[in-house]
Amino acid sequence: MKVPILLPNIFNYPFTYNSDLKLGVGDYVVVPFGKSKLTGVVWDDFEKKNNKNFAIKKVLKKIDVPPLKKNIIKFLNWFSEYNMIPKGMALKLLLLSSNAIERISGKVYDQFKIDIKQNKIELSKEQKRCLKKMNISNGKFRVHVLQGTTGSGKTMVYFESLKEIINKGFQGLILLPEIGLTGQFQNKFIEFFGFKPAVWHSGITKKNKEIIWSGIANDTIKVVIGARSSLFLPFKKLGLIIVDEEHDQSYKQDEGVIYNARDMAISRASFENIPINLITAVPSIETYDNIKKSKYSLSKLNQRYLNAALPNYEIINLNNTKLESQSWISKKVIEKVKLHLEKNDQVLFFLNRRGFSPHVLCKKCFSSYSCPNCSINLVYHKKKQNLLCHYCGYKTLLNRDCSKEGKCDFIFSGPGVERISEEVKKIFPTKQTTIFSSDTMNKKSSLEILEKIINNEIQILIGTQLISKGFHFPNLNCIVVVDIDLSSQGHDLRGAEKNLQLYHQLSGRAGRTGKPATVYFQTYNLDTKMITDITNKDPDIFLDKELEIRRENNLPPFQRFIAIIITGSNETELEKEAYKFKGFIEGVVEGKILGPVDAPIFRLKKMFRFRLLIRGRKSLKMQRSLANVIANFKFPAGIKLTVDVDPINFN
Ligand SMILES: [Zn+2]
Ligand SMILES: [Zn+2]
Repeated sequence: MKVPILLPNIFNYPFTYNSDLKLGVGDYVVVPFGKSKLTGVVWDDFEKKNNKNFAIKKVLKKIDVPPLKKNIIKFLNWFSEYNMIPKGMALKLLLLSSNAIERISGKVYDQFKIDIKQNKIELSKEQKRCLKKMNISNGKFRVHVLQGTTGSGKTMVYFESLKEIINKGFQGLILLPEIGLTGQFQNKFIEFFGFKPAVWHSGITKKNKEIIWSGIANDTIKVVIGARSSLFLPFKKLGLIIVDEEHDQSYKQDEGVIYNARDMAISRASFENIPINLITAVPSIETYDNIKKSKYSLSKLNQRYLNAALPNYEIINLNNTKLESQSWISKKVIEKVKLHLEKNDQVLFFLNRRGFSPHVLCKKCFSSYSCPNCSINLVYHKKKQNLLCHYCGYKTLLNRDCSKEGKCDFIFSGPGVERISEEVKKIFPTKQTTIFSSDTMNKKSSLEILEKIINNEIQILIGTQLISKGFHFPNLNCIVVVDIDLSSQGHDLRGAEKNLQLYHQLSGRAGRTGKPATVYFQTYNLDTKMITDITNKDPDIFLDKELEIRRENNLPPFQRFIAIIITGSNETELEKEAYKFKGFIEGVVEGKILGPVDAPIFRLKKMFRFRLLIRGRKSLKMQRSLANVIANFKFPAGIKLTVDVDPINFN
């Protein structure tokens, strides 16, 4: 018999094979392809146009894995159409290095055996009320949002709801935005459930991935905690998906296969017809819109653990309190911080900039250090003794001659966390300090540092946005935002929303054990209304305003955006092609086309970049019309086109 087999490659359709084996839709098979053998899946439909030029080859074997469920095949078809990704590439996300793992059995699964312990954790009245609302689902698809202030015990509520699902014999998936959190989170899980969940992210070993993949496909593993990619695991009996920190923009995969894992999780739940819970302190604007439209149900936790109050806010106007030259911490802040340190409070200085200085130039020849591959300044990292491009990883030494005479004489303009750290050490020489950024916290030693912070052996932290991501530091009761600059939102339509999320998450790190806490904002900005808005205890006020702005300007979530980025090494040719492409799709695509314009980072990794933006009604027609026309446009060799549906970054 003839069977359609989808293969994990760049083709958007299945290939036709012959088979003597009894095969059904969803079966995993091995087939010959060119000179190699590939793993594929029996798909639900043949390729539309029949390619008669090829001799039909025979399926080599069937793999011992439970067949892929039909509704997952439907999900992958939809995923491919929505994100404009070839079907084969969608299948590739589900396989493990393009393979299916034949049934593994035995002792390796003992560690995941469910043995739910009776826990003594008593939920509060409020938590019970939320749980009740969350559990109204009858096992069918629905989206529920659990909104609760940081530290209000949201995790316990959704753990309880997951427990019920596991007790009914189903599998569960918990998505987390940051793999750095999975360790702390896994312990919390084990403490509650009494058994080990499988942890899935890019950093785990191949052997472990094989064990987990097979365990999921055969239903011997019940719970997965994972990053974006765990969404594509071949669950046999998935009963519930939980997306923790649903607002977090790292759910968007920006490179390679571009998709938003939160949105795709909702879609998978819908195809599987199972409930999904979104967890957040401040919902994303899309989720908020869906709550308002009653598409999603909502429950709210308003009380913090131990009735801890949210931190107070104080704005420190830098126009009134003069900073000394080469100094970024005001006298007023120093006084305040001293009082906190006397009470044994931990203090965090927050600045979202890695390294020592973002801009280095010579005062004799005036030339600055910029990346030879990207149109961006190099950042000076004093500890590593080099200048670094944060986009392509280019490195160079701080050592240069002026064109005329002798060595360059450098000026370091503006601070990064390393520079603030130096200043802090000068002001508070007896205190233990540490920098908390991806440069310092991605190492083996970071667990040790975490421990010290938790035990208050380190009194002052200097951190980037990494610290806003769900860490629990019991003594942190004072946060100084070194420079809140909200004017730099520029081209980014999500700038305001991003700031709201960042500062809300950041302040949520303070005052977690009931002691009074304060967040100090240093700013030159006289219009402090924006700060008051984003620090309001009720984030809905801000979200309502933001939603109104989006509505008035026809921005997402009221319209769909599709970004197109065209890259190439020859600037003149690229610009010409970008205009040609626009002319080719204009009038054919369902939507209005803006651009082409130079991308804000015009040169990245040696490539020039032009952007187009298509905006239109939220309908798959937009993607379909674009996919049809793109297929007929041929760029010269070396020019690459990337499609980003629902873009979040506008670099
Ligand atoms: Zn670069
Ligand atoms: Zn010079």
